[in-house]
Amino acid sequence: MRIKMTRAVPLLTLLIVGLAIIGHGLLEAQSAASGTAPAPEHAKPVKRLLIRNAMIIYGNAEPPFGPANVCIEDGRIARVGGVPLEWQADAEIDATGKYVMPGIVNGHIHLQDERGGVPQPFQYEMNLYLAAGATTIRDVGADWKKAQEWRAQSAAHTLVAPRILLYERIWASKGTHTAELVREGVRFAKAQGVDGLKLSGMDRDLAEALMDEAKKLGLRTAVHNAVDETTAQDWAELGITSIEHFYGVADAALDGIQNFPPEHNHNNEIHRFGRAGELYIQPNLNRQKLSAVLELMVKNHVFWCPTLSIYVASRDVIRAQNQPWFKDYLHPTLEQYFQPDMRNHGSYFLGWTNTQEVRWKKGYQVWMDALKEFNLKGGLITVGDDAGFIYSIYGFGQVHELELLEEAGFHPLEVIKMATVNGARMLGLEDRLGRVRQGFIADLLVVNGNPVENLRLLNPAGTDVLTYDGRVIDNYSAIRPGDPKVKVARGGGIEWTVKEGIPYHVPTLMREVRDMVDKGRIERAKK
Ligand SMILES: [Zn+2]
Repeated sequence: MRIKMTRAVPLLTLLIVGLAIIGHGLLEAQSAASGTAPAPEHAKPVKRLLIRNAMIIYGNAEPPFGPANVCIEDGRIARVGGVPLEWQADAEIDATGKYVMPGIVNGHIHLQDERGGVPQPFQYEMNLYLAAGATTIRDVGADWKKAQEWRAQSAAHTLVAPRILLYERIWASKGTHTAELVREGVRFAKAQGVDGLKLSGMDRDLAEALMDEAKKLGLRTAVHNAVDETTAQDWAELGITSIEHFYGVADAALDGIQNFPPEHNHNNEIHRFGRAGELYIQPNLNRQKLSAVLELMVKNHVFWCPTLSIYVASRDVIRAQNQPWFKDYLHPTLEQYFQPDMRNHGSYFLGWTNTQEVRWKKGYQVWMDALKEFNLKGGLITVGDDAGFIYSIYGFGQVHELELLEEAGFHPLEVIKMATVNGARMLGLEDRLGRVRQGFIADLLVVNGNPVENLRLLNPAGTDVLTYDGRVIDNYSAIRPGDPKVKVARGGGIEWTVKEGIPYHVPTLMREVRDMVDKGRIERAKK
């Protein structure tokens, strides 16, 4: 049963809700506090924050329940259910008709304050991620010195940003060509204070040394596995934490290697991304081998962060170049970087052909089937958008990632689990993040509507909704064609992103983004 946000909650639902609350050990049934506290201020810490009358999406794929209240105190979830009689909120959010879910863990991002050497406000990216509901982001490659500062400022709440974890490549600064240098680099990275290591293609012997040293030091690892000697098979054997993207999994399933033409140059991104779209449709892709590598990944607890959204331009470039939110939210620096130019990573759309797109489309089907199979075997998929490249704007890429996971065959509740519970587990933070659970860190989203009904509601710019007489209704409702009371309105969006108890007002964040974009455009016009 789906509960429409505009309708009264049926009695049966209340019963289910009661059971759900009991199921979460929340037997107190005090009525909501009678005194009404003022609404919170954007980005201002509140000691006691109450979210009143919300439908709750817990995070672990169990069905929503509610209405319930969430009491937040000192950045933690103090109570889910009734408000204790003695508890007085300093600020409160009326979530009537809204859904509350855990903050999203975006497992694959890049902290960026420039594109192609041209400055871009760092706050632009951070506002967009918060507005898209990311309360935790895992950076997998940024300027180390700056990234450390941003991480510290975010932790101290002096920077408006999600919580930042840094999985970096600074281990490579010592050299990457001998086992000893690789080990030294890993020790160096640990001493520098990384949260984990970002790896990319390596020879097997060096990968062994690296993974051995990382394990000794208790460092988690993420590998961008492209066309390399080491495939997902190797990395799974060596106990990698997460495999990013798609290449390495299919590479491990080929009988032989991919059939690259003789003129292929891997430094030419047209070659590279064109042929990447053919990987999953190689005639020598052996489905039994694919199943076996997926099984090994599951057995060794390897997370798969597929970043489906970052490649979709390859299967539909005209859509990618004409996304409606570009008008208000595409910063001119990013816009310039997206222009086809072989010097910019991911800007390979020079004479992109229909045949290339068709191959990518077919490749996506096989890739999505592999994700589905991985999940059915017990594998854990996480959400990452890798935005800032290939026509993908920070945060907008993230909601598209959720949409694509639904396309891959997952129920929206499972998709939300990937974005919350699974992400927290990948980072080793599952004991405090990813669920609307008493005692957990208060990373919460207050959504205008039900994201289980439409994941698109999580778009930072909102989405089209159908209204009848000014009320949002299900577009399968029995409305009469031609009825003048039927309208399309801009709705949805997250209203509040709460990070560690601090409420961030999403419409305010997005207004600031528009201002940054306008300012950038004025500066560009002067040049
Ligand atoms: Zn990346």
